[in-house]
Amino acid sequence: METIRIEDAKNYVGQEVRLGAWLRNKRGSGKMQFLQLRDGTAFFQGVVVKANVGEEIFAKAKALTQETSMYLIGTIVADERSPFGYEMQIKDLTVVGTSECYPITPKEHGTEFLMDHRHLYLRHIQPFAVLRIRNTLIAATYEFFNKEGFIKIDSPLLTGSAPEGTTELFHTEYFDEDAYLSQTGQLYAEAGAMAFGRVFTFGPTFRAEKSKTRRHLTEFWMIEPEMAWMTQEDSLKVQERYIAYLIQAVLDRNEYELDLLGRDKDLLKTYTQLPYPRVSYDDAIKLLQDNDFDVQWGVDFGSPEETFLANHFAKPVFITNFPKEIKAFYMKRHPDRDDVVISADLLAPEGYGEIIGGSERDTDYDYLEKRIKEQGLDLNEYSWYLDLRKYGSVPHSGFGLGLERAVTWITGEEHIREAIPFPRTMNRLWP
Ligand code: ATP
Ligand code: MG
Ligand code: MG
Ligand code: MG
Repeated sequence: METIRIEDAKNYVGQEVRLGAWLRNKRGSGKMQFLQLRDGTAFFQGVVVKANVGEEIFAKAKALTQETSMYLIGTIVADERSPFGYEMQIKDLTVVGTSECYPITPKEHGTEFLMDHRHLYLRHIQPFAVLRIRNTLIAATYEFFNKEGFIKIDSPLLTGSAPEGTTELFHTEYFDEDAYLSQTGQLYAEAGAMAFGRVFTFGPTFRAEKSKTRRHLTEFWMIEPEMAWMTQEDSLKVQERYIAYLIQAVLDRNEYELDLLGRDKDLLKTYTQLPYPRVSYDDAIKLLQDNDFDVQWGVDFGSPEETFLANHFAKPVFITNFPKEIKAFYMKRHPDRDDVVISADLLAPEGYGEIIGGSERDTDYDYLEKRIKEQGLDLNEYSWYLDLRKYGSVPHSGFGLGLERAVTWITGEEHIREAIPFPRTMNRLWP
């Protein structure tokens, strides 16, 4: 007899099959038991009828406790009343692993409790749906960049330098030297672009974020494409196509998960319509001031400003040409102005804030050397990076997308901790 997975149930209607599953919940009477089951691919119901299975199997079903694992044998039937559309008429049931006093009961639990039990909570509907969508974003990322002629290069996680400033760095010992956990693969991606043309890095990055926001983890995954011979204009087009590709992939492959989460699919569909609006930082400041925000030219945006700006356009929106002083040293100078750099942040609507930060990179050796010094960085640590400007420097651009920011937005979750299997935040290192 075939062992099937719940997500494939529709292919087995009318057939007797075997299933390995866990019990989520059950209800019923002395004659009938409805078992809420899960097997990692989907959730559905098994029905045990005493008149069909006999006293012994029925008693076993009635005694089952939450998260008991079992083999089930039965017939798959279509049933419009069940949310999944199919269920199993159970004929036989064998317990594999018992489960006593499972802590996450069907009643409501607080967030901290669920996060303390994250290793078990992963089994429940919300993390199931969110993390399967995360998996689609990962797969779609590789597809998109491979299709567009990028190769993946991996950047080191242990580094001796700190391009994004030192306040958010995790420090560690490296034999007799100081080392830091990487905050970005950016500089290495630039070296890769000079070797392979178009590359992307995709790995964990670390930032000692001391603020408790809904958008910051201390360990998160970043996708950082870097493209030789491409201007910022070219890069913005890649960014739009990439985001639209990610959303379309989720719409195509995760209808079940989006429905479990109650996410508005029509709204998501609107985010696949390109191009995305663009607003200069200057105009964004004016727009904010006209709407009673107390902001001056030169500040970086916080969550309220980002939320306002993206909601104003009801679409992802690029904010372009940020002040030089609030951006990284490698961003390209504007040809006509000394105070802004050729950069853009992509803000997601619905209050999700910055999901991408990117720029064209300056190509000039002397200018970059000056910027590194001005920012108080150690020139010795960057001599390898400056070599990229010494030997055949070319125009190039790149950007970084935070995977968990994208997951949080696309799934419509409230908090970024839901977007990664085991979140790390200022007050959480376990489980
Ligand atoms: P923010 O302004 O939200 O703090 P940032 O400008 O510091 O973000 P970048 O250095 O531009 O972030 O990093 C590129 C991308 O990485 C961001 O656009 C965002 O999607 C993601 N990101 C940055 N910091 C975090 C974090 N602490 N947790 C999760 N994702 C992050
Ligand atoms: Mg930050
Ligand atoms: Mg930012
Ligand atoms: Mg940024």
